[in-house]
Amino acid sequence: MSRVDIAIIGSGPAGISAAITATIRKKNIILYGEKTISDKVNKAHQILNYPGLPEVSGEEFAQNLRDHLDRMGIEITEKKVTMVYAMGDYYMLQLSDGQMQEATTVILSSGMIQEKPLPGEDDFLGRGVSYCVTCDAMFYREKTAAVIGYNKEAEEEADFLADVADKVYYIPMYKDEPDVKKSITVIHEKPVEMFGDMQIKGLRTEDRDISLDGVFLIRDAIAPAKLVPGLEMDGNHVKVNLKMETNLPGFYACGDIAGTPYQYVKAAGQGNVAALSAVNYLDAKKKMNS
Ligand SMILES: Cc1cc2nc3c(=O)[nH]c(=O)nc-3n(C[C@H](O)[C@H](O)[C@H](O)COP(=O)(O)OP(=O)(O)OC[C@H]3O[C@@H](n4cnc5c(N)ncnc54)[C@H](O)[C@@H]3O)c2cc1C
Repeated sequence: MSRVDIAIIGSGPAGISAAITATIRKKNIILYGEKTISDKVNKAHQILNYPGLPEVSGEEFAQNLRDHLDRMGIEITEKKVTMVYAMGDYYMLQLSDGQMQEATTVILSSGMIQEKPLPGEDDFLGRGVSYCVTCDAMFYREKTAAVIGYNKEAEEEADFLADVADKVYYIPMYKDEPDVKKSITVIHEKPVEMFGDMQIKGLRTEDRDISLDGVFLIRDAIAPAKLVPGLEMDGNHVKVNLKMETNLPGFYACGDIAGTPYQYVKAAGQGNVAALSAVNYLDAKKKMNS
């Protein structure tokens, strides 16, 4: 596995801006996110306040961002980052396909998550609650587990889990009818809490209690404090200074995740600052080691 200079988590305006600046500064980067850019960009009806792009629609803005990346030869790696471990002088990223990626610095630009954690979710994290099926499915051989899917991609995760676990429930948190393997039991009930003692024992829905050994929550984004153990928060946002530095050396945050206002131009500006701070950090480190 080759170590990159900068791993960028999130392909919204903040992450893309960071990727562009870091590439201009000749750093070796990897950009994780979605080839469609970001739901929050695509869904905007009309954007009136992005300098140089008057009255652009969200879809047009997303296309402009994609074109800019293409011109610079920057690819978006369509994988979710499920965990980031601080390893001393580098970071280890765990990916949704179970692979790992090393990076000297990390820029977190994952946007804000809308959903509140389910009651019990934080208590049972690592004790029956997980955010990555590929990483943890093997613990559910001959066991029962549920996947709570907040997007269609979660269906693939449920299908994979069904190959390993004895019984799988799938709970879609969206309107479309899910297309999952026949062996999976689809439940259209709102989950309200997880229960157990040292380990999770089940999931309570509005209608009943379901006995389970594990619950996978597949959301568009994972709360930063869970994604990066040890990362200091300020309420729901990652605590940053004006250089977009966090409390972890070589780890930066930008865009919505770094605080209000939630605006494209602010996200892009902070992405630029985060990339330049990462570049300075890498250059200083190189100087020290030479
Ligand atoms: C309907 C709507 C209209 C809006 N209109 C305007 C407007 O007119 N003007 C304006 O300035 N702002 C507007 N906003 C706000 C704007 O959308 C946000 O401020 C902006 O998108 C924030 O950019 P970001 O890069 O921080 O995050 P986002 O755009 O949210 O991008 C985050 C990206 O990170 C990815 N990601 C998350 N977690 C992971 C992970 N673990 N691994 C890999 N990838 C991950 C996500 O899939 C997403 O692609 C609007 C928002 C909405 C919802």
